[in-house]
This record gives sequence, C-alpha cells and structure tokens, in this order.
Amino acid sequence: MLSSSTSTLRLHQPTRPHRHHPPAPAAGGATHLASPRRWRGHAPGAASPAPLRARAQRIRALDAAQPFDFESRAAGLLEEHQRLKIAIVGFGNFGQFLARTFARQGHTLLAHSRTDHSALASTLGASFFTDTHDLCECHPDVVLLATSILSAEAVLRSLPVHRLRRNTLFVDVLSVKEFPKNLLLSSLPPDFDVICTHPMFGPESARDGWDGLPFVFDKVRVGDCPARRARAEAFLNIFEREGCRMVEMSCAEHDAHAAETQFLTHTVGRMLAMLELRSTPIDTKGYETLLRLVDNTCSDSFDLYNGLFMYNKNSTELLNRLEWAMDSVKKKLFDGLHDVLRKQLFEGSPHAPNVSSSNVRK
Ligand code: NAP
Repeated sequence: MLSSSTSTLRLHQPTRPHRHHPPAPAAGGATHLASPRRWRGHAPGAASPAPLRARAQRIRALDAAQPFDFESRAAGLLEEHQRLKIAIVGFGNFGQFLARTFARQGHTLLAHSRTDHSALASTLGASFFTDTHDLCECHPDVVLLATSILSAEAVLRSLPVHRLRRNTLFVDVLSVKEFPKNLLLSSLPPDFDVICTHPMFGPESARDGWDGLPFVFDKVRVGDCPARRARAEAFLNIFEREGCRMVEMSCAEHDAHAAETQFLTHTVGRMLAMLELRSTPIDTKGYETLLRLVDNTCSDSFDLYNGLFMYNKNSTELLNRLEWAMDSVKKKLFDGLHDVLRKQLFEGSPHAPNVSSSNVRK
C-alpha cells in the first residue's frame, strides 16, 4: 500500500531530534565522504535493534559520572542511522545552497550538473560526477532534483534510472509542484518513492539560517514498509532539525498559494527592477523594503521566474488580477482628478486657472 497524497494542510510533527549538528566533513574530502555510510533502514521512532536497545537501557540506569560518555555515543549511533547518501542533480545556485547544510549535517553527497562544479563540490566534501551513469551506480538513497523548472523534464529523462537501486527515493525542490509531481510519477518506475518539496526560502532570504522558514512537502508515494518510511522521515528530518516550519500540503494546494504569494512577490520585484530604482538621501523604510525586494527577487535566475509562470497554471490569472489592480488604482486617481478639473472648468471654482475668454463656451 502507498501513502496517498494529501488534500488538506497539516503540520508535520515527527519526533524532533536534538538540534545536534555533527562535525562538518573534512574539506576536500570527497573520498572521505564517498565511503558508504549507508542509511540502514532503521525507523527513528521504531523499536531499536536489540544491541542498541540493550545499550540504551544501560544508559538509563547510569546517573553517576561515567568513564565514557555513553549518552553522546548513543546519540552518535542515532545520527548514523539517519545519515543518507544524497545525489543532487542540478548543482547550481540552489543545489549548492542545500548541499552546504546537508554536508554540515554529515550526509554523504554526490552531485551532477550540466556545468562542471567539481571544484566547488570538493570544498563541501561532495563527489562530483559528469557522467550520470557513474552517479547512479553509486546507489544513492535519495536523488534530489534541483535543476531549473524549465530543464527538469529533459534532465530527468536523461538519467539512467535503471542503474539505481529498485526503490530509490526521488525528491524534487522545484518552486512549482504539480508539474514535477506528474513528471516524476509518469517517468519513474513504480517501485521508486516520490516526495515533492518546496523549501520556501533561498540563498538570499535564508542567509542567516533556516529557523522558522516554511518547508512544504507532499509524500506523493512512499512504499508502506518501515525502511522506506524511515528513509522518507530521515530526509524530511534534515529540514526539521534546522528548525524549518514543516508544512504538509498537496502539490495542487501549494501551486494555488504560491501563485498568490511567491509569483506575486517575484513579479512585483521584477517590475520594480524595470524602474531602475536607486537609493536616495531621504529613503523611507517602505522604499528600503522595495529596494530589498528587487535584490531578493532579481538575484534568482530569470529561468526560475519564467518557470513560476510557465509551470503554474494559476500564474496567468494572477498576472491578469495584477493588471486589473493597477488599472483600478489609476482609475481612482484619474476619476478624482477629472472631478476637480470639471469643477474648475465648468462651475467657476475660485481655484480655476486663468483661461482666455476665447476658450470659454458662452
Ligand atoms: P535555476 O536557474 O532555476 O536552476 C539552475 C540549475 O538548473 C543549475 O544547476 C543548472 O545547471 C540547471 N540547468 C538549467 N538549464 C539547464 C539545461 N538546459 N540542462 C541541464 N541543466 C540545466 O536556479 P536555482 O536557483 O539553482 O534553482 C534550482 C531549482 O531550485 C529550481 O527548480 C528552483 O525552482 C528551485 N528552488 C530555488 C530556490 C531559490 O531560492 N533559488 C528556492 C526554492 C526552490 P548548471 O549547474 O549546469 O548551470
């Protein structure tokens, strides 16, 4: 049985682990991290395997100072179970941004992109693959699709998925959700798990961390066995442990909300950018906010913005409403102006401008 897609908003509240960050992998340690620290399919909340359970019982019985720090060793074991081998496909601006946190948490990282980002990858301890066959033969637990929305279909179809393990978990982070959901379901073998996600933040807006920022996800297809459920939870836990606000929502609901919020924000930012706004000596707080909006939205690629429009069916309506809103505001202003002018011209207001008698109708 497969877990079904949700239609209503729910807050995801799995057992929250300690905000414990294991040490970052050694810089340049591609071989160091490439050693298979496999996730072993042990559900975080499920009964522990016998040796771990026995050890945990021993820990609980110990109050006095101990020769070894058993508690932190047990925490370390739990971390080990949660470690994933993640292949990031699309190692651009956002893929690299996510990779930094994944690496800090101690996950094993593989990466692939159209461009050779191997130098950057090695600074994160990630192994960079130019050939997707080599990448897939490493049998990652998770393949994370972080390519542009516009190229997602071509990139996905170019992956030799038959070289992956039979029940690999696919996750996408595209900023639209119905499109990748349909794409992943129609392109991947039925044994693959699929989670569609949208971290509602980026390198600019989350410069100081992810705490409190929304992370939208839809467990579109997760096989009903403990190992697959645990793998899905271990992936979501990456964001949970950074303090993200976990929002479980269907892809359709996401797209409806995102057109009203994200696409609107990006459109206004792009429109203001056309005005080439500059800082002045008398900037108000409101104006400073507008300048920041331009920076935040225009630092993303135009492809990203174009993808928000092309692949969210709600975007066209939003553009129409925005146009209508601008027209309505203008109309209100011009109607008011016409009223004043009419009064001045035809009702002899004391403020009427001097008009030559030849122009006045008798
Ligand atoms: P983007 O312009 O949307 O995507 C850049 C990535 O797409 C790069 O890895 C690039 O490859 C790849 N790409 C572009 N055209 C390609 C093509 N024709 N063939 C193969 N690969 C191609 O910018 P981004 O900010 O990195 O976003 C990546 C994804 O994350 C997008 O789906 C976006 O919606 C999503 N996202 C972004 C943010 C954000 O704040 N930036 C937040 C949430 C979600 P190269 O590496 O070779 O250049």
